[in-house]
Amino acid sequence: MQNKMLTISKIEPKKGAVLVEKPVPEITDDEILVKVLATSVCGTDVHIYQWDAWAQSRIPIPQTMGHELAGKIVQVGSRVHHLSVGDIVSAETHIVCGLCEFCLTGQAHICKNTKVLGVDRDGAFAQYIAIPAINAFKNDPNVPYELLCVQEPLGNAVHTVLSGEIIGKTVAIVGVGPIGIMAVDVAKAVGASKVIAIDINDYRLNLAKELGADHIINAQHADVISVVRELTHGLGVDVVCEMSGSGFALNQALNYVKDGGRVSILGIPTKPVEIEVGKNIVFKGLTIHGITGRRMYQTWFQVKALIDSGRLHLDKIITHKLPLEEFEKAMELMESGNCGKIVLMVSHPEEI
Ligand SMILES: [Zn+2]
Ligand SMILES: [Zn+2]
Repeated sequence: MQNKMLTISKIEPKKGAVLVEKPVPEITDDEILVKVLATSVCGTDVHIYQWDAWAQSRIPIPQTMGHELAGKIVQVGSRVHHLSVGDIVSAETHIVCGLCEFCLTGQAHICKNTKVLGVDRDGAFAQYIAIPAINAFKNDPNVPYELLCVQEPLGNAVHTVLSGEIIGKTVAIVGVGPIGIMAVDVAKAVGASKVIAIDINDYRLNLAKELGADHIINAQHADVISVVRELTHGLGVDVVCEMSGSGFALNQALNYVKDGGRVSILGIPTKPVEIEVGKNIVFKGLTIHGITGRRMYQTWFQVKALIDSGRLHLDKIITHKLPLEEFEKAMELMESGNCGKIVLMVSHPEEI
């Protein structure tokens, strides 16, 4: 096996990233070495690329970027017995302690000792990545690997949509970036009665429509609250999946969600948000869910079941496939908002 590999790495504390050669990582007894086949671009990668305040406070330099992947195992550590060389895997990106109260009570997704691939340690924008074996999720090798690499963000969408009742419900998906688009697809696949996609970007709204959104609303040109109410006989939607991170959009959602409804929040506002708690939460009897990561590993099995069911349209959600070397183009597309999910193609399975 080669001992050098190509990576997209952050090596300087400023905007950008570089294509740079690094040694292939060594693994511990509990890790596996994965040859990356495909890796997808997340909003987190854009924050790291842009070197915003969050990235500056969190990312050690130098570091290989990326965390969403599908790859083939090329080496297993001496204590790894449930996986083999040749298996096609993806990775849960939250590396948890397994020992704290949350890990021990089935809530590892909120483990306070979490380390994240591509954030706290070297990531997947590389020809090889070392991951703890416990974080590997074994894939069906018959599913195209460029689809499998998006299971981690798809898990965010599944976790959000399925965090309460959904069958027969009216659902607003607020913010249809890549994860919001996935949420539209998931909500339709699992039997939501009406899906309303809300965003300010027409490219993404049109994509949501193509994926089966019953209605799309451009929040820049429409009075969102009254349109949602019109579409729901004045009552509002049963479920809101908040994926925009906009405090303004969240307040609108708290207004047009039906009394007794559910608001599941995945989007992260950058500033504190003022909310009329009494009027818009308490007296409405709302259920508010904070959604972080994926339930480990319940969400992964739900994601797998949905992919296997053939009801999702990941081929449409992935709007761009680019070679790893064209990561700058991927970042520009992400910054423009005129894309769904972008996949970077790294290796071909036959090369291995
Ligand atoms: Zn991600
Ligand atoms: Zn823990």
